[in-house]
Amino acid sequence: VEDGVVSNSIARDAMIDPYSSPSLPGVELDLRDNTNAWGSPPSALQALAATNGSLAAYPGVNAEPLVAAIAAHVGVAPSAVVVGCGSDDLIDAAFRAYAQPGDRIAHPDPTFSMVPRFARLNGVAPIAVPLRTDGSADIDALLASRARLVYVASPNNPTGTCTSPAALTHLVDRHDGVVLVDEAYAEFSELQDLRALAAATENLVVFRTFSKAWGLAGLRVGYAIASEPLARALTVARGPYRVTTVAQEVVRVALEHDAAWVASRARDAVAVRTRLERALAARKRVRVIPSQGNFVFAAVEEPAMAVAARFQSRGIAVRAFDSLTGYGDAIRFGVVAENALAQLLQAIEEVFA
Ligand code: PMP
Repeated sequence: VEDGVVSNSIARDAMIDPYSSPSLPGVELDLRDNTNAWGSPPSALQALAATNGSLAAYPGVNAEPLVAAIAAHVGVAPSAVVVGCGSDDLIDAAFRAYAQPGDRIAHPDPTFSMVPRFARLNGVAPIAVPLRTDGSADIDALLASRARLVYVASPNNPTGTCTSPAALTHLVDRHDGVVLVDEAYAEFSELQDLRALAAATENLVVFRTFSKAWGLAGLRVGYAIASEPLARALTVARGPYRVTTVAQEVVRVALEHDAAWVASRARDAVAVRTRLERALAARKRVRVIPSQGNFVFAAVEEPAMAVAARFQSRGIAVRAFDSLTGYGDAIRFGVVAENALAQLLQAIEEVFA
């Protein structure tokens, strides 16, 4: 291992543990994954119950009917769209598509933990660049790293903070390599949508997912938007048949029939987020970071694991973060549906009494 670059598979195995998110006994409210607390689009559940296609046949190599539906929904050409087994799959493939082993990727810190993990697994060295104090990505420092790839999630996970479209556009203009913008939580933010720009720009890839606002995490479908050459390279690096027949069909139906349902649940999530932010801000020794996602991020002045354990003893699972750059220990709360809000607010009062 040199400069954080993993040079062989034995070193990989030694350095990187399998990702784990254990199921927790006794938990009624699991707020760890930022999924849709209201469930799945009604048309998706109907389409799932009605699927009668042949499972003996492979799905389309590149999920063509779904790609066409996404292209129409976004307003770009089908050649600009790549789908994968969750956006995870496409972020992973991006390292192989746009970098060589030994290259570097600069990313804000903290950010989505799979990014440095996928980087190392592909022989690419992650360079962590602290977020600015306002929670936005430090564009100048990301550029100054001169890394081949730059990744920015906006809204960012776990902080929920955004980087302005103007700052991201500046980054894309100035960066020599490829810029990866992860919009997994864009439906909960007012500003974030670089998809049209990605289709029209040589060095920008935007990632979206059906796992969050779209309520379909169990199907594992995400997509990327990019100019045709970048989309093609991503398709090659990803490989064929990544999205199952059932997932392709159910997501296609949801896109056609339930965009309004998704938008409405996203508004509900934003309303609940505001309630949670206020409740947390009223507690002592809790610093709430204003969020643009479907979750609330709060820095705490004691070990986050201890705080999470107190929530867990009340049947609530939250994500605990330990010693984050710029924030220290912190808790991330996914929003709940209205019927669970009283329980969560009560727990917040007790846990931070
Ligand atoms: N990007 C971000 C910022 C995320 O938080 C997540 C999920 N936690 C993903 C991508 C991956 O989502 P999926 O693979 O389910 O599309």
